[in-house]
Amino acid sequence: MLEHGLDQARLPALGLLHEAGTYVHGTTTFPSVTPVCLTSIATGAHPDVHGVPHLVWYHRAERRVVEYGSSFAAVRAAGTRRSMRDSIFAMAHEHVSRDALTVFEALEDEGLECGAINFTCYRGRTRHALKLPVPAGRNRWYEAAWGPRRFFFFNLYESDPTGAPLAIRSRPEGSIDAYAANIGRWLVTRDGFDFLVFYLPDYDYASHLVGPEGALAALERADASIGELMAAAGGPEEFLDRYAIVVCSDHGQTAVERIARLPEAFADLAVFTGRRGTDPAGADVVVTASNRSGMAYALGDQPPRELAERLDGSPGVDLVLFREDEEAVVRRSREELRFAPDNGGWRLSGDEQLLDAATYPNGFERAWSALACPNAGEVIVSAAAGWEFEDLGHRHHVGGGSHGSLLAGDSTIPIVAAGFDAGVPLPEDPSVTDLAPLALSHFGVEAPASMRARVRSSA
Ligand SMILES: [Zn+2]
Repeated sequence: MLEHGLDQARLPALGLLHEAGTYVHGTTTFPSVTPVCLTSIATGAHPDVHGVPHLVWYHRAERRVVEYGSSFAAVRAAGTRRSMRDSIFAMAHEHVSRDALTVFEALEDEGLECGAINFTCYRGRTRHALKLPVPAGRNRWYEAAWGPRRFFFFNLYESDPTGAPLAIRSRPEGSIDAYAANIGRWLVTRDGFDFLVFYLPDYDYASHLVGPEGALAALERADASIGELMAAAGGPEEFLDRYAIVVCSDHGQTAVERIARLPEAFADLAVFTGRRGTDPAGADVVVTASNRSGMAYALGDQPPRELAERLDGSPGVDLVLFREDEEAVVRRSREELRFAPDNGGWRLSGDEQLLDAATYPNGFERAWSALACPNAGEVIVSAAAGWEFEDLGHRHHVGGGSHGSLLAGDSTIPIVAAGFDAGVPLPEDPSVTDLAPLALSHFGVEAPASMRARVRSSA
C-alpha cells in the first residue's frame, strides 16, 4: 500500500522522506500482532526475551487470560476493567520482562530526553501520575506509570499541557492520529526531545475494517500527521537537518475471507478460554486465539505433540509449532520439520520447505523465539492465507484485513529512513528488532545485552 500510494503521489510527506533517504523491506516478529511487535520495536528483542507472547494469552502464575484488546466484544468477554488495566499498565510494567531494557530506558540512562505518544511499550525512568481518579477495589489500577519524560498516552497520561483534544468515538475518521499529530507538532515546535516514538494506529484500524487494499485514505491521513511534524520544524529540509527519522509499520495485513474457531479442535478436552466469571479449575487446556494466530497451553501433563496433532487438518490452520526434545517442531498436516540453533545457524531435519524463507521470512528465528517465550502456549498456531481465528468475543474481520501469522504478507514491513549523515546502518535483511539498536547507535549509545544488537554504535 505504501508503494501504491507513493506511485500515485498521494503520500507527499512519505514521498519526501523516500526521495531523501532509504527504503527497504523488513520483517517483524511472530505472532505478528501489535502488542508483540511494538514490544519488539521498543526492546530490540523477540518474545523469548521481552515476554509478551500474543494479543491474548494465558498468565500461568495468575491462572487467567490476558486480553489486550482483540475487539470490544473480546474485552467485554474477558472483563473490561481487567483488560484495560492489562493493556494500559500491566503490559508495560508487569508483562514486558524487566530483563528487556526499553529504548527509552537505555537512552534516558545516558541523559537523553525521550518522548512517546500513544505507544504501548512505553516503560521509561519518569513517574507520571494518572489523570483519572483511580478506581478502588481488588483489581487496582496503577496510580502512576513509568514512562519517558515526555509521555502522552491516549489522554490518560500527559507529561505536558499541550491542549490537544482526544476523541475516541470519531476514530474511523482518524481522531487518534490527529491527537498524536497535535502533540508531535507541539514537541517539535519546542525541540522538546532527543528521541521520540510517534505511533499512528488509525491506519491499522481502517485496514481491519475495509481490507488492506481499501485503506489508502487512512494512509493519506497518517502521511498528513508526519507532514505536520515536518511543518512544525519549518519544512522538510529543516526537519531533516535537525532529526534522523525512521518510518515503519509494526506488521503487515492480508485479506480475510474465512473464519475458524480454534477451540473446536480440542472439543474432546475441557477447554478454558478465559471468559469473565469462569476459571481454569478442571480444564485440560487453555486455547487463546485472535486475528491470525493462536496458542494452546497444556494444564495437565499432555505432551505438546498430542495437542498439536489435534490440529491436523483443522480449518484455517497452516503451521503448528511446538517444542520436543530441545528442538522446535513445525508441523503442517502430517509433515514435520525439526530445528534448533546451532553455531549461529540452524540444525535442521525433515522437510525444509515447510519454513521456506520466501513464504515465511526469518521463519526459523521468529518461530524459535515465539516458542521460547516464557508466556507462550506449548503449541502456537499460524493461520493459513485468507483465514482468521475468531476471538473471545466471537469477533473477526471477514471482508476486511488481519495479521498475526508467520506468512510474508502479515510479516513484511516497510522501512523508510532519512536524515542519517552517513547512510542508515541497517543489516541487509532488517528485522523489527534492529530498530532500537539503530536508535541507540545514532546517539552513540551501546546496545544492552538484552537487545539483538546487529546494529552497533560507532562511538
Ligand atoms: Zn491490527
